Amino acid sequence: MDSNNIDKHSSDIQEDNIKSPRTNHMEYMEGMEILHESTVMDEVIGAMNEYDYNTFTGRDVANALKKDTCSIEDFKAFLSPAAIPLLEQMAAKAREERRKHFGNNVYLFTPLYIANYCENYCVYCGFNCHNKIRRARLDIDGIEQEMKAISATGLEEILILTGESRKMSDVTYIGEACKMARKYFKMVGIEVYPMNSDEYAYLHECGVDYVTVFQETYNSDVYETLHLAGHKRVFPYRFNAQERALKGGMRGVAFAALLGLSDFRKDAFATGMHAYLLQRKYPHAEISFSCPRLRPIINNDKINPKDVHERELLQVMLAYRLFMPYAGMTISTRERSDFRNHVIDLAATKISAGVSTGIGGHGNKEEQGDDQFEIADDRNVDEVVAAIREGGLCPVMNEYVFV
Ligand code: SF4
Repeated sequence: MDSNNIDKHSSDIQEDNIKSPRTNHMEYMEGMEILHESTVMDEVIGAMNEYDYNTFTGRDVANALKKDTCSIEDFKAFLSPAAIPLLEQMAAKAREERRKHFGNNVYLFTPLYIANYCENYCVYCGFNCHNKIRRARLDIDGIEQEMKAISATGLEEILILTGESRKMSDVTYIGEACKMARKYFKMVGIEVYPMNSDEYAYLHECGVDYVTVFQETYNSDVYETLHLAGHKRVFPYRFNAQERALKGGMRGVAFAALLGLSDFRKDAFATGMHAYLLQRKYPHAEISFSCPRLRPIINNDKINPKDVHERELLQVMLAYRLFMPYAGMTISTRERSDFRNHVIDLAATKISAGVSTGIGGHGNKEEQGDDQFEIADDRNVDEVVAAIREGGLCPVMNEYVFV
């Protein structure tokens, strides 16, 4: 498709979205797979609605800190405002747990955005279909050039991202990118639009190891007001993406709420419960968390994470580590380098380096498409590796052995 057709395609989507009345965000659209037997969503939402963090006291937090294993009630206490004065004690215990399960390893990866076309209207995102930005999609040669350049930095894990457009980034296009990634990397993740389990199975065959889907917020009423058009508007289809990915044979799944969109304590609790319940249902699954906060976007630099300051973000990360000590956890380039260096010692296990959230730009060429959001840490791979070593930790590119 040439660029004129691509531009026309984008404006068609915008017009469709403007004309069509808002759909029911709890109703599946045609072609979306429904997991009739799964009760996970109802359990998570029920638990979240019952969670009243103001009922927890400092004594609840102190008692939870004395235990060897963290119950759901303890997790609630760790996420409550009463835990703020005890963050140092939580950090010490989280660090101990992190050491037990991961030693001093810190895993590195980088995201590669291959397309920024999107059919959704998420009001907080720079890629949304109404935002006037430069749109681009790399062809397979462009993807290979980017991957070669990234691989030359020593990285062995890549996370492939697209905007959420089935039309502009169909499953086969993503599959070809993943097959290419397998040539250059030992671990391949995707962060693309939610799919049906047979499509996840296809992408797994193409070489994908894990799938990341951010639920953004678990409050479906707030979700509705932020996701105004497109497939993403369907809350339950997005919610069940990780379970469909596991049914499709993926080895790992990652969870996140975009902290700052809604009540972050409830969202963090729901994220933990979602991961916990799927781990119980699929014991072989490799579970991990991401901990993104809202960031300014092109054409809207007023967007900010409201009451989720670094202190609160740290609290959430420590609570995840204590609740699921064996789970992976990624710290985003949305955060400052100092903060990132600090949390890889306490809670996070994975850090991105050499990051660009635009399309292209890793090779010799200029970026062809605009960024999804502003990053706060632009260090390259060597700089992040050096910082990890300075902190007495061990940078690890990959630890999977393929036979
Ligand atoms: S958050 Fe994802 S789905 Fe929403 S506008 Fe951005 S790229 Fe599209």
